[in-house]
Amino acid sequence: MELDWKAIDRWIFGEAWTGSKVGEHAAVLCEEIGPRWASSEGENKAVEYIRGQFVGMGLAGVGLEEFELNTWAHGRAEARVDDFSIDLLPYNRCPACALEAPIVDAGFGTEHELDKVRDQLQGRVALMHLAMEPFTTPVPANIRLEALAEAGVVAVVAIDPKDGRRVEYHNGGDWREPETAELPFPAVTTSREHGRLLQQWAKEGRRLKLVVESRFYPAPAHNVVGEIAGVHWPGERLVLGGHHDTVYGAPGGNDNASGTIAVMETARILAGLKAELGIDPGMDLCFATYSAEEQKFQGASEYVRRHCADKPRLAINLDELSAGHMKGVVLSFAHLRDFVQGQLDTMGDGLKCHVMSQLDATSDHFPFLRQGIDAAHLWRWRFRGRHADADYHHEPADTADKLNVRELKEYAGQLARLLLRLSHQAPEQWPVNTLTKETVKQRLHEERETVVRVY
Ligand SMILES: [Zn+2]
Repeated sequence: MELDWKAIDRWIFGEAWTGSKVGEHAAVLCEEIGPRWASSEGENKAVEYIRGQFVGMGLAGVGLEEFELNTWAHGRAEARVDDFSIDLLPYNRCPACALEAPIVDAGFGTEHELDKVRDQLQGRVALMHLAMEPFTTPVPANIRLEALAEAGVVAVVAIDPKDGRRVEYHNGGDWREPETAELPFPAVTTSREHGRLLQQWAKEGRRLKLVVESRFYPAPAHNVVGEIAGVHWPGERLVLGGHHDTVYGAPGGNDNASGTIAVMETARILAGLKAELGIDPGMDLCFATYSAEEQKFQGASEYVRRHCADKPRLAINLDELSAGHMKGVVLSFAHLRDFVQGQLDTMGDGLKCHVMSQLDATSDHFPFLRQGIDAAHLWRWRFRGRHADADYHHEPADTADKLNVRELKEYAGQLARLLLRLSHQAPEQWPVNTLTKETVKQRLHEERETVVRVY
């Protein structure tokens, strides 16, 4: 049967707009449930909610997939200089500490700045600005932290580049190597405004008292899965996923109720298309919301272990979609570029397919890439010329209002159109993926210690 794409697209976009549950999902995930740190009560409520939605829309094979998460929790975290309590969030996976030491200003932590203070760092607390030093070769923050560890600091207070006393949770290591990405010492972040005070106090040789209560432990966490079976090529599949968890204490409107909701909405639209117009996908469409993206992609890694011994044709990851409307698809390996662009062209909206020049470990497409699987994220206004709301992710102010309802409707419609088109391309039409784990490993090795270029 020839598919009538005009009729299909009309139905998809009508449903994406008028049947939308975006607002409802945002209220439940961000406001009723709130923060969803993987393995927490909030995450448990969220996965039950998502499972219920998948069942309600008639997906097949719906389930929660449990795995043991290597997680972390923090309690009291505070830093004082005399009686002054500074703005503070611990780094993710910050080890516990109770210490007092003089503060040394290490600037941006780049080599020439460390040279100026290297002999003063042993046993001290270093103050380091997290931004890149202007006009110098960008050095990833984790490499600068490693240099401070080698110089013997006992803790780091990082200065958040945001203003207005906003402070985010940050990660210590390079997640291109998640197994080894741990902080070498306790690290906390303070606001730009309090960072300035600490810089002044460092000159006066004043001391900082730092207490972080935290613990590391295993706990169960869950991915949520469901699918729509394809009718032409059983076993061939496409994956659409996004993480449902958040960092500690953040309701995660942009990061990542937006992506989670786009997964649910795309699935709902395509399930409806099948139920109402009898249009099936050609390949299996697998939908997933991942746990623990914020904890070194442990959820997506588990998904890849369970489901991807045979490579899916493409896995699309949705993260932080409150970044303006969709502009296209970003691949990590080049062989599918023309093929995907060809499908985007049939949609007639000027969407573009690009290929990143480096492997990007900022979200859940990375565990797929690591195995040599074609995985993509979306090109949106996250990058050059950012949308204002895209600035909110790892902080309590990433609330439901940071999620753009109308834009998410468009995302779901475009994703449904694209997935359906891709699923109807016969396997022999797809350029062959010859990548292995080893070739990817080699490439990651070559790209080590570089800052990933995002525009
Ligand atoms: Zn995210």
